[in-house]
Amino acid sequence: MLTLDTPLSTLIVIKKYHLDRLKRLDIETIEDLFRHFPLRYDDFSLYVPIDQVAPGILCTVKGTVKTFTSKKSWKKRLLISEAIIEDNTGSIRAIWFGQKFLDKLLLPGRAVRLSGKTILKNGEIFFSSPECENADRNTTHTAGLISIYPETEGLTSKWLRWQIQTLLPKVKFPKDIIPEDIRSRMHLPNREQAFRYIHMPATKDHALLAQKYFAFEEMFLLQIFSIHQRHIRSQESSITFSEDKRSLSTFIASLPFTLTDDQAKAVTHILNDLKKSHPMNRLLNGDVGSGKTVVSAIASRHIAKKGYQTALLAPTEVLALQHFHSFRALFKKEGISVGLLTHSYQYVMYPGKSDFESMRRPQFLNALKAGLIDIIIGTHALIQKDVAFKNLALIIIDEQHRFGVAQRAYLQNLSDTLTDGLARCVPHLLSMTATPIPRTLSLAFFGNLDVSLLEMMPKNRIPIITRIIKPEDRNSIYTFIEDQVSKKRQGYIILPFVEESNAILDVKAAITEHDRLQKDIFPKLTLGLLHGRMKSSEKESIMRDFKDGRIDLLISTSVVEVGVDVPNATIMIIENADRFGLSQLHQFRGRIGRGSYQSYCFLFASDDADSPSKRMRILEKTLNGFTIAEEDMKLRGPGQFLGTRQSGIPDVAMESMGNMKLIALARQEAETILTKDPDLNTYPILQHTLKKFESNIHME
Ligand code: ADP
Ligand code: MG
Repeated sequence: MLTLDTPLSTLIVIKKYHLDRLKRLDIETIEDLFRHFPLRYDDFSLYVPIDQVAPGILCTVKGTVKTFTSKKSWKKRLLISEAIIEDNTGSIRAIWFGQKFLDKLLLPGRAVRLSGKTILKNGEIFFSSPECENADRNTTHTAGLISIYPETEGLTSKWLRWQIQTLLPKVKFPKDIIPEDIRSRMHLPNREQAFRYIHMPATKDHALLAQKYFAFEEMFLLQIFSIHQRHIRSQESSITFSEDKRSLSTFIASLPFTLTDDQAKAVTHILNDLKKSHPMNRLLNGDVGSGKTVVSAIASRHIAKKGYQTALLAPTEVLALQHFHSFRALFKKEGISVGLLTHSYQYVMYPGKSDFESMRRPQFLNALKAGLIDIIIGTHALIQKDVAFKNLALIIIDEQHRFGVAQRAYLQNLSDTLTDGLARCVPHLLSMTATPIPRTLSLAFFGNLDVSLLEMMPKNRIPIITRIIKPEDRNSIYTFIEDQVSKKRQGYIILPFVEESNAILDVKAAITEHDRLQKDIFPKLTLGLLHGRMKSSEKESIMRDFKDGRIDLLISTSVVEVGVDVPNATIMIIENADRFGLSQLHQFRGRIGRGSYQSYCFLFASDDADSPSKRMRILEKTLNGFTIAEEDMKLRGPGQFLGTRQSGIPDVAMESMGNMKLIALARQEAETILTKDPDLNTYPILQHTLKKFESNIHME
């Protein structure tokens, strides 16, 4: 008997050719295959007598094959097939390119169905590459709603449709994950029905119902997971840190600026969390430049003053180094030692010393273990087996979105192994993100976190002026930049080209653009180039040159760090701006406007953009990252907004995330179940699924 867990490799009908291709999509079991959902449906339910076929519509005709021919085109050696199909009202031509085996199906005299789009050319209406099948067979590829799958090379929709539809009736489904009473309250089908509805819907309503089912299932599990995590955390113990108001306000008064109200509030939240005997789990969510660093510094200072250690994780060396220098400056007179550990550096700044020391890794690790380093800043190099602490009490994760939802959960659980010095105590956790996350999503994804928002920017900021620039005005912008540089300002030119997958192309394009600008446009200025294929030491030295003013204009691909702080940089050009989400553009823009001079951001659309400006106008109008994020999510949908791959949440669930009501319901149902039965002992299937869900998250 086949089950959802049956590996596809055990089925004789699926051959190695397809297994290999499926594996590339991480499809290994029947369930994986069933969860490869259609991207959309083509509606071929309209049956038309041949003489009434209209041009440019999707429809199905039924008739007999009158003639069939196929030949190779002499130019491209492409196989071209042609058939004439007739019914009692008339006849119609159909053509196909490069499709083998049609001759086996389209035998003259046989009754067939054709489904596809009709084309009008030179006065003739015909089908171009329609689906076809023997009219005696059940409708799999023609008539009705036909599922269209995300295709990769060698895996066609036709093949997937056939396999899935053949397997569906043969599989024995287990009991449902979602308890029946919830399903009936929500008017949802069961899982087996949902799989049928999504792959072979009889009506559009079926497809929608199935989508609702899978979206709810995913949201429900996510909520169960996050509430369960919260429950686990609340049972764990951690060190409590009582407040020390005098010392805190002295330190805050010594800062070169006054905290914004939001910063002050976040500090209060954090210090309150740290007083409790179970671990803090807080997200500090504030735009680029909203001043998260100083908030995290205050928290770690509080811990250090009581003799415990803090680890601050940054996604890149450049950011780790920047934090090291900021913390070093902030804690000069505080009697606190700060360390930096990355693959390239091991630095320690001891109190009372005039400069930091560079040391070898073993020596550094010894100092860390002996408790000689209070605050340790690092990259992934910090999450290694040989790294041990004396008494780690706080973990701070900067730019946590870079770690992804799954990795974040992983890191949180890793903290268990980081607490070498403190048996049975879990460190407090503070994560920070510079992607303003709309409330809707933050509830869905970070339901297990407490959130502090930094919505307002420090008051000393001069608002950035943002303009969408028409192609014909490009040269005047270059002139403007030259003028700004002559006034000692600096700037970025961001080249957000294609995607990660095309990193090599991006790099090539960036080099070409750098050379063009240097030779033809700014021969007198010093240009620098930064891209993702550079070694981090190279990036490092370019960034330092830029920060120290030895580079006027920095050409950079989109892979480059968002958190880097160069207050003298006041100009930014973003090329192909329309190819990016508003939030991303806003993030880029956040690198300027940090100093005491007026900053300018110029957006150029790519050549093939159709009316890009409408969307980008929002950037001209506002600097509030949360407003932009809401807009962005509305325009592109939550999937695009968060990035499906990064979050590990399937598209269907993503789509529903615009649907606040569904999230709220999923949360409510999950809450009810877990309040009644925190360990899910009376819900064995759910318990099992949750374990699977958790271990999936840990594996990534
Ligand atoms: P982000 O939230 O992007 O990490 P940072 O913490 O790097 O932002 O802060 C950006 C800059 O703003 C830093 O130079 C920091 O010193 C400064 N800053 C932080 N808080 C304030 C404030 N309340 N008033 C003025 N400047 C501030
Ligand atoms: Mg930062």
